[in-house]
Amino acid sequence: MPPLPEILAQLNADMRATDDWGDVAAYIPQLASVDPAQFGIAITTADGEVFTAGDADTPFSVQSITKVFTLAIALGRSGDQLWKRVGREPSGRAFNSIVQLEAEQGRPRNPFINAGAIVTTDEVLTGREPRETLAEILQFVRAAASDDDIHINETVAASETAHGHRNFALAHFLASCGNLNNPPEKTLGTYFHHCAIDMSARQLAMAGRFLIETDKLPRMILPPRIRRLNALMLTCGHYDGSGDFAYRVGLPAKSGVGGGILAIVPGRASIAVWSPGLNRYGNSKKGTQAMARLAREMGWSIF
Ligand code: GLU
Repeated sequence: MPPLPEILAQLNADMRATDDWGDVAAYIPQLASVDPAQFGIAITTADGEVFTAGDADTPFSVQSITKVFTLAIALGRSGDQLWKRVGREPSGRAFNSIVQLEAEQGRPRNPFINAGAIVTTDEVLTGREPRETLAEILQFVRAAASDDDIHINETVAASETAHGHRNFALAHFLASCGNLNNPPEKTLGTYFHHCAIDMSARQLAMAGRFLIETDKLPRMILPPRIRRLNALMLTCGHYDGSGDFAYRVGLPAKSGVGGGILAIVPGRASIAVWSPGLNRYGNSKKGTQAMARLAREMGWSIF
């Protein structure tokens, strides 16, 4: 097998060789203006090595990938109580689906679809102000990445707030079912802001290290919880494309509509890939292709 830097260099070249980049998310105007023809990848290993290729230092909107960090904080705060408010099953529906929430009386299927992440944000927010909650989430992400140069992009947050009609619908429906502790606007303001964190692929791969589960790295959460977060990422991390991603890549992973994907190779590595053009499930098109090829070439599938 060629060394990892060579594999990444070839992957980067091959991803740029074709023009089928996919479509950027249009429902958040600030994301719609991003050039889809970009690709970056970064890997951090349990041994502390970092390998990158392409646009690995370009900051992008990590969006739903932040749901993993918020969930880790919510579980740390509330433990299994959280599961009274949100389930642990794949949804088989789009990330922002409304219909399932009504059919299931306001208990979202899992913490990674929007309705579920609004609930976990609400849980973390309860008893605090949005400013403190966002500071706690940012602090967790920065500590995980060992990098203080990670920030919320206020322009993206404002853009989503102005156009987040579906998320407002979900939050108000949750409130009508008694599954929101805070006013919808307050919870959503916090949710939109943590989704608007900018990170580069290098920073994201670093931030994912806490999910690798190894004695070689400082521990941020307990091992049983690491395993459970990985299980949820595998089964629910790519919305209604989760089964296909597990089939093609075979790694726990979480995607975001900014075109990022964070994948974990248990015990071995954290991988972040970014390419803003999305496939029909709303997951990075080239990012998914790159993850599939990397996992195959490295023999990293967990199956
Ligand atoms: N902030 C986005 C939304 O709520 C997150 C969706 C995603 O990244 O998949 O629509």
